[in-house]
Amino acid sequence: MEQVRRCEHCRRPLRVTARADARYCGGACRAAAARRRRRYAEIERLGTALVRGRAAEVGRFCPVCGLWFLPGVGFRRDAVYDRPACRTAAWRARPAVLPCPSWPPAPSATPTPQDGEDEI
Ligand SMILES: [Zn+2]
Ligand SMILES: [Zn+2]
Repeated sequence: MEQVRRCEHCRRPLRVTARADARYCGGACRAAAARRRRRYAEIERLGTALVRGRAAEVGRFCPVCGLWFLPGVGFRRDAVYDRPACRTAAWRARPAVLPCPSWPPAPSATPTPQDGEDEI
C-alpha cells in the first residue's frame, strides 16, 4: 500500500502530481516552513545563551518600563522597547530627555543613491 505523502508544514496530503522529492504542498508552505526553521534556530540560540548564564548578552531591558525581554522572540532582533506603548512613550519624551541637535529630523532627508550603492 502506498503511503500518502503529506506537506511537512500543513500536513495536508500532497497532490498526486507533486514531484517525488516535494516536501510541501506549495510555495507558501515552503516559505512558512523556512520562516519557522529560522525562528526555531533563533529561539535555540537565545535558549542556549540563557542556559549558559549569558542572559545579559541576548536579553535587554526596556529603557521605559525596565522590563527584561528577549529581542528576537516575538520582537524584532533590534528591538529596543518591549511594547509599542513604551516606544511611543520614549518617542514622545525624546526631545526633553535627549536634547539632540538633529532633532527633529530634517524633513528634506531624501536619500541620495551615490556612495556605497553598487549598481548591478
Ligand atoms: Zn502545506
Ligand atoms: Zn517597556
